[in-house]
Amino acid sequence: LTTYSDEARIAFDTLTGRAAGLISPSLRIGVTGLSRAGKTVFITAFIHNLLHGGRLPMFDAQKSGRISKAYLEHQPDDAVPRFQYEDHIAALVESRIWPESTRAISELRLTVEFESASAWNRLLSRGKLSFDIVDYPGEWLLDLPLLGKDYDTFCQEAMEMARLPVRAELSAEWREMACGIDPDAPADEMTARRLFEAFSTYLRACKADHRALSTLPPGRFLMPGDLEGSPALTFAPLEVEPGKKHKPGSLHAMMERRFEAYKTHVIRPFFRDHIARLDRQIVLVDAMQAMNAGAEAVTDLERALTEILSCFRQGRGNLLTGLFAHRIDRILVAATKADHIHHESHDRLQAIVRRLADRAIARADFSGAAVDVLAMAAVRATREGTVRQGKETLPVIIGTPLAGETIAGETFDGETETAIFPGDLPEKPGLIFQQKKAEDGSDSPPDHPIRFVRFRPPRLEQTAEGVTLSLPHIRLDRALEFLVGDHLA
Ligand code: GDP
Repeated sequence: LTTYSDEARIAFDTLTGRAAGLISPSLRIGVTGLSRAGKTVFITAFIHNLLHGGRLPMFDAQKSGRISKAYLEHQPDDAVPRFQYEDHIAALVESRIWPESTRAISELRLTVEFESASAWNRLLSRGKLSFDIVDYPGEWLLDLPLLGKDYDTFCQEAMEMARLPVRAELSAEWREMACGIDPDAPADEMTARRLFEAFSTYLRACKADHRALSTLPPGRFLMPGDLEGSPALTFAPLEVEPGKKHKPGSLHAMMERRFEAYKTHVIRPFFRDHIARLDRQIVLVDAMQAMNAGAEAVTDLERALTEILSCFRQGRGNLLTGLFAHRIDRILVAATKADHIHHESHDRLQAIVRRLADRAIARADFSGAAVDVLAMAAVRATREGTVRQGKETLPVIIGTPLAGETIAGETFDGETETAIFPGDLPEKPGLIFQQKKAEDGSDSPPDHPIRFVRFRPPRLEQTAEGVTLSLPHIRLDRALEFLVGDHLA
């Protein structure tokens, strides 16, 4: 791995940018998470609440009125698609539908003018800071370990994972195909295509709702971005014998070449051009979906989180920091969609994420950045209430289920508000890792299923004076304080 040219390029870009006056003080914030974790919604809510002076009592700069102005500016990187904030906020607020999810990398620059809380800082800084918010699929991060692996290792590991009980059935078709093909057979495009398709069908099946298994590399097989259909993606693992040499011109040789091309032309540039420049990172996780799917999905989410955190680990043994000197100093792991549960369970959700993150940190032997955890909802689609059932008063959440959602046999039309009792999260976070077995040995459903209904985004409230309030949220302010608060202090 030669690294000097990459390092030199970053240094050169920074220098020329400074010289051209392009670079004002800025903080690059990466927003990631596996697909549908809530990245698009988070970024949209982040920007909206700053542009519109949202209610952010735990975000000190806003609460104390020190932010005088917030506005969008041209982003510094012309080659990266812009995060389509205007479309996303119109969907959320005007149409009350959820915006289109992240499918590739995008970026947006938000600049704030502020007054520092300390007289010393007021003297030193201009009181202007840009946030470059970079949205990218977590699936792409999971590719980093591939940089340190050759094709045969990739094949062996993919086969091993595919044979695990939780994935065996989903991978059966691909495994049968892969095991029935001679790696020494002449290279053939159609065979490569069929294998790629069978392998990516298996990866997609792992993500299906009731499975909720986290992703395996290569990340672009699920989130191809602009590489859809390109030959760099048309490869798949084969059944290989360790140490065996293969003939030039064989299927194995072709697959190996494409795997190496994927590393060189896809993975490395992505890490060099985007990840290596980040200052802060938020990792969003949909812990509730995993919990509902059972202990194996939770363990799988923990594995993905371990790999994601490993990417940001400092020091020796990390491919990324081995490659690039830049460092991320704060990482927030946030469970999203906390508006699906009653506030009494928010701390429990946070404790569960803490447990997940702690285990991931220990397994990744992580050090170098401050890691915090949070249970939040970037957009709060529900409010809380109580209903009486006999002598009992039950806490409920009230919202408008999306058209087509069903609860107890009733199908909703997308206009009707309803109250549901979402269920409780376990008091002891460790319980989510324990799967009970039914008498016949099969996995029994989790003890604490959350009644998970998708709600429409909320209608914006108006004050008595007719002022429209910004999008409601849960603990978004705490997320902002951790991610950027110190730079506005
Ligand atoms: P991405 O793939 O990470 O960009 O995920 P999105 O931000 O598009 O979110 C996926 C889906 O999760 C959305 O369409 C919503 O249904 C749901 N979602 C995300 N964030 C929230 C939230 O804060 N509250 C609620 N109720 N739902 C959310």
